[in-house]
Parts: sequence; C-alpha cells; structure tokens
Amino acid sequence: MDFERKPEYGPLYFELNTGAKMPSVGLGTWKAPVGAVGEAVVAAVKGGYRHIDCARVYDNEKEIGSALKQLFSNGVVKRDEIWITSKLWCSDHSPQDVSKALSKTLEDLQLDYIDLYLIHWPFRTKPGTRGFEPESMLPLCLPETWSAMEGLYASGQARAIGVSNFSTKKLQEMLAFAKVPPAVNQVECHPGWQQPGLHNFCQSTGIHLSAYSPLGSPGSWVKGQTLKEPTLIEIAKKLKKTPAQVALRWGLQSGHGVLPKSTNEYRIQENLDLFDWCIPQDLFSKFSEIPQTRLLRGEFAVHETCSPYKSLEELWDGEI
Ligand code: NAP
Repeated sequence: MDFERKPEYGPLYFELNTGAKMPSVGLGTWKAPVGAVGEAVVAAVKGGYRHIDCARVYDNEKEIGSALKQLFSNGVVKRDEIWITSKLWCSDHSPQDVSKALSKTLEDLQLDYIDLYLIHWPFRTKPGTRGFEPESMLPLCLPETWSAMEGLYASGQARAIGVSNFSTKKLQEMLAFAKVPPAVNQVECHPGWQQPGLHNFCQSTGIHLSAYSPLGSPGSWVKGQTLKEPTLIEIAKKLKKTPAQVALRWGLQSGHGVLPKSTNEYRIQENLDLFDWCIPQDLFSKFSEIPQTRLLRGEFAVHETCSPYKSLEELWDGEI
C-alpha cells in the first residue's frame, strides 16, 4: 500500500470477511489490573479509541463493563460505535460450555452482543480449571467447539468469530471443517516477531491477522526487548516518534490491527497518535534486519503425555 500518497494515513479500520469494519487500534487489557483497567478504558475511549480487546481469563471484564456502561450513559460513545472483542478460555471448549462462557462475558461486560469472539488458544482443559497442570489437560475437540462458536454467530450474540494463537497448519485444518471461516486470527506479532508466512496465508484466505503484544510485551513475564531494538530506535529518532509508535505504525502498514496495552493515560494517547504520519519505504525495508524471536511460546501447555502437543514444534507446527 502506498501510505505516503494517501490524504490520511490510515488504515483506521480493517474490513473483516463478515463485512464488519474493525477499528485498527484496540486497547489491550491483559495485565491491566482491577482498580486501573476501568480508568484506562475510559481514558482510551475519551481519547478516541473505538476498540477494546478483552478476555474472560484476564479477570477484569466486570470493571471494563462498568466503564463501558459509564461511557454509554454519559453519551461519550454509543454501543454501535465501539468494537469489543473477548475470548473463550480453554476450560470452556466443550460445546455445551461455549454459549455459557459467552453469556458470562456478556453479563460482566454489560453487553448484549460481542463484536468478535475468539477461541483463545488451541488447548483444552477441564471445565472449571484455569492453568495447564498436566492433570487438567484434555484432548482437543475443535470441530465441535467451532460448531458451537458458529451457533453464537448465527444467533447474533457474536457478530464475528475467530481464533487466536493458531498456526498456518491449524488454520488450514480448521478451514476444512468450518462452515463459517474464522474472521480473525489474533497472534503475537511485532517487529521482533513478524510472522510473514502466517501473514501471507491469512491474507490469501481472507482471515485478518490481528497483532497482540504489538510492543513486544515488555511488561509481562516474557519481558520483551522489542522496544530496545537498535533498528527500531534509529528509525524512531529519524521520524521523531517513539519506538512504541514506530512498532505500532509498522503493524498498521503491514496490514495488521494492533492491540497495545497500557494503563497509563499518556501512553494510551501516544499509542493512538499514528494517523498523520507513516514510515517511508526506505525505513520500512529496514525492519527485515531485526532479529526474530517468539516471546509467548506456550511452553506451559506442552507436555510429553497429557497435552495434544509434545513439543513447541508441534504446537506451532514449525513456526517457531
Ligand atoms: P504490549 O501491548 O506489547 O505491551 C504492553 C506493555 O508496554 C505494558 O507494560 C505497557 O505498560 C507498556 N507500554 C504501553 N505503551 C507504551 C509506550 N508507548 N511506550 C513504552 N511502553 C509502553 O503487550 P501485551 O499486553 O502482551 O499485548 C497487548 C494486548 O494483546 C494484551 O493486553 C491483550 O489484550 C492481547 N494479548 C492477547 C493474547 C492472546 O493469547 N490472544 C496474548 C497476549 C496479549 P503501561 O501499561 O505501564 O503503559
């Protein structure tokens, strides 16, 4: 895409295979603690965000729901002007639990529909469990889980459905049984883990690749170093932007929605200041020099006997 010649430096949204327009920057809420996440959501929406990325397992959807209610009742934004994503946790993959899990999320978020509902990981654990202890792992039943997700889509409770942390091979397998193809695959993607193969596959099949940890997740246990990458810092200096803004702008120009998490009002605003400039082609090509490392590797759910994946190689089907 030729961003330099565009009158405004979009994309402000990405059109999904459902026809819906998903705002290209969403506020991430993983590790946004209760007591801070509500204020972050209010600051983000007042500052112009129209997309919030949630998940039941983040344990903060209730507070996000109160913040949304406040924003709706104060007239800051209407329900149909904001995009809310949530995710089905691994303990709710049994088809009879899928609808119950979304109902709980909708109750907590105080919404009557979700814009996008994703299968959070291609793992399945026993109902009521949270972690990935070997005794809680169950064999996958993805065709059945997806069929239940398709039921939510048909009912209108989920306006779009998709997956997260799926490799190219897992998407291929899914497309063979899906009646409704996934609209989105939300995966780790940032200048330090660019995923070109998966990107090309998603593009060729009409699945939008949405980028989680777009700053390289410096605040989580993975302690990503992407923002300290010398090439990124050099480009940021040349463009008089911050490394975070350049990382996010790289995501947008690569065709990915980006989901930066922050609970800091200043950084929330900084992370949306992406639409009146662009990375010119000569600097954009330098991103190919950045060393590549997957940060959220998923080793917690790899197990010799109890997990469907005996190795990281199997989990990511070689994309590691
Ligand atoms: P991230 O957005 O890459 O990075 C967030 C960290 O960067 C926080 O520590 C934040 O601290 C800091 N930060 C934010 N803006 C900054 C800026 N302008 N300059 C410097 N530091 C900045 O990491 P993430 O939370 O891992 O990923 C983002 C979102 O993607 C998540 O919150 C979640 O919604 C989603 N996600 C999904 C999955 C999945 O399995 N589907 C996995 C991981 C993440 P402050 O809060 O202090 O600003």
